[in-house]
Amino acid sequence: MEKLEKRAWAEPFKIKVVERLRMTTPEYRERALKEAGYNTFLLRSRDVYIDLLTDSGTNAMSDNQWAGMMLGDEAYAGSENFYHLEEKVRQYYGYKHLVPTHQGRAAEHLISKILIKPGDFVPGNMYFTTTRLHQELAGGTFVDVIVDEAHDPEDTSPFKGNIDLVKLADLIKRVGSDKIAYVTVAATVNMAGGQPISMKNLREIRELTKPHGIKVVLDATRAMENAFFIKRREPGFESHTIAEILLEMCSYSDACTMSGKKDLLVNIGGFLALNDPEVFEEARNLVVVYEGLHTYGGLAGRDLEAMARGIEEAVEEDHLQARIGQVEYVGERLLRIGIPIVVPIGGHAIFLDARRFLPHIKQLEFPAQTLAAELYLESGIRAMERGIVSAGRDVKTGDHVYPKLELVRLTFPRRVYTQAHCDVVTEAVEAVYDRRKDIRGLEMIYEPKYLRFFQTRFERL
Ligand SMILES: *Cc1c(COP(=O)(O)O)cnc(C)c1O
Repeated sequence: MEKLEKRAWAEPFKIKVVERLRMTTPEYRERALKEAGYNTFLLRSRDVYIDLLTDSGTNAMSDNQWAGMMLGDEAYAGSENFYHLEEKVRQYYGYKHLVPTHQGRAAEHLISKILIKPGDFVPGNMYFTTTRLHQELAGGTFVDVIVDEAHDPEDTSPFKGNIDLVKLADLIKRVGSDKIAYVTVAATVNMAGGQPISMKNLREIRELTKPHGIKVVLDATRAMENAFFIKRREPGFESHTIAEILLEMCSYSDACTMSGKKDLLVNIGGFLALNDPEVFEEARNLVVVYEGLHTYGGLAGRDLEAMARGIEEAVEEDHLQARIGQVEYVGERLLRIGIPIVVPIGGHAIFLDARRFLPHIKQLEFPAQTLAAELYLESGIRAMERGIVSAGRDVKTGDHVYPKLELVRLTFPRRVYTQAHCDVVTEAVEAVYDRRKDIRGLEMIYEPKYLRFFQTRFERL
């Protein structure tokens, strides 16, 4: 008898409430896809069977978080829930000051506006769409200083999110430290395929920037997932708790921007947390202009409470083991049947390598966009393009930015889908792979000005 495979993970929760899903036919999906301009962002969610568009705000909250929602203190000023969140942010992230915001990009907006002067440079380990845009709108120029391995989807280095210290030092030498607004360090780099950064690298970034007086801003959106990888892969951290690792990671930065919609198991929320009292003062002034009073930052008291409780659940190793284990479960199966994906398998998503999946489709015929559309057509599974459409246009020349990677991201919402859903995903990708030679590319017929991937429309070639 064949030996049963060992399970890599199991859900550390049971299901108390369910949301029913709608099943659709291929004919129905063909129509829906056409109406959506072959852009999965423009599909209606009711037409989607398994929604792997994003892990942002799609988390399933716990009974404990929902109970906390009932304890929302909806005072305009000084809500209890703010103080609870502030206490948890101090305890787990270690920064002194908290400025709540409605989501991560609002925190990026505030810090970019405060720290960037026109003409400044902002180095970072690959860009995130909203982060880079806020830096550019503030007059800064983003410079990618991630290690070269990050751009190679077949390189199996354990920490492909690391910053290349030589690239960073060269930039400081070339433009001068006073022209560098700060260094953005993302923990698990989304655009590189959900790849983590090592503690050693974080420490070295701090050592390199400190003598120059350059600030480090951590994008802590997925820092807990990054901490899990450090525990697993970096020598010396095997017996640390996630909480200990997280605290040390944050200690090498001056501030963090945070989207609670990812790590923190909520549907809305974010924050800016920081140590410098003057920058805090300024951020607390600005948040009132753009978000809301500094004790609610555009959120209801109940949202602050759900996030405070989410921190404590998200930092649990059982949770991270199941969350990342689910992604690995699908990734390992896809690898076994020969599907080209980014390796090592990342923390929040599987990235299909559309260049290798559809080698006959040119970059300007949008291979990743095409693959995401075909996957929906096949199965009702919704994924997202992370390639030339997401990369947008060069602000100076107006030409497309041509990224090396053309990826389709299958992003797993936290605590939402079961292992059976995961099996359906594997089978659907395999079915598209089997008919890949017959797939044609797309032509762009409408393009909005900012963050174009959300609304661009296409037609089949
Ligand atoms: C989602 C995300 C952001 C932006 O956060 P929002 O809450 O969507 O505004 C920033 N950085 C990273 C790494 C993210 O994943």
